[in-house]
Amino acid sequence: MAAACLFCRIIAHEIPASIVYEDEALLAFNDINPQAPTHVLLVPKRHIETLNDLQAGDDQIVGELVRRAAAIAAERGISATGFRTVFNTNRDAGQTVFHIHLHLLGGRSLQWPPG
Ligand code: AMP
Ligand code: ZN
Repeated sequence: MAAACLFCRIIAHEIPASIVYEDEALLAFNDINPQAPTHVLLVPKRHIETLNDLQAGDDQIVGELVRRAAAIAAERGISATGFRTVFNTNRDAGQTVFHIHLHLLGGRSLQWPPG
């Protein structure tokens, strides 16, 4: 755990969050500033700053994040209508929290390309 990291502190239950799903390896919680009717963040419990820091040994957790996002989309009934999954990395993508997180967005029509 990185003591100064907001998402590590949410994972440690030191800061409250609206938790959607939790297991040994990952946590999913509602984004505090939702951009769509469904806006869930999925994070590995292990602190990884950006996608640039991924190692081969992280393949399993990345797969779990993506599969869990699809499962949450299914629970919300948006699998067929569609949803978006996004990892923002560093400044140009607007990453503000440096603990990797997969955004799951859906429940409305989303524009492409993003701004
Ligand atoms: P990013 O810009 O990709 O780094 O996304 C960070 C996301 O974290 C933003 O969508 C924020 O709204 C969200 N966020 C920031 N603080 C919290 C919090 N305490 N609980 C839940 N989501 C948060
Ligand atoms: Zn962290």
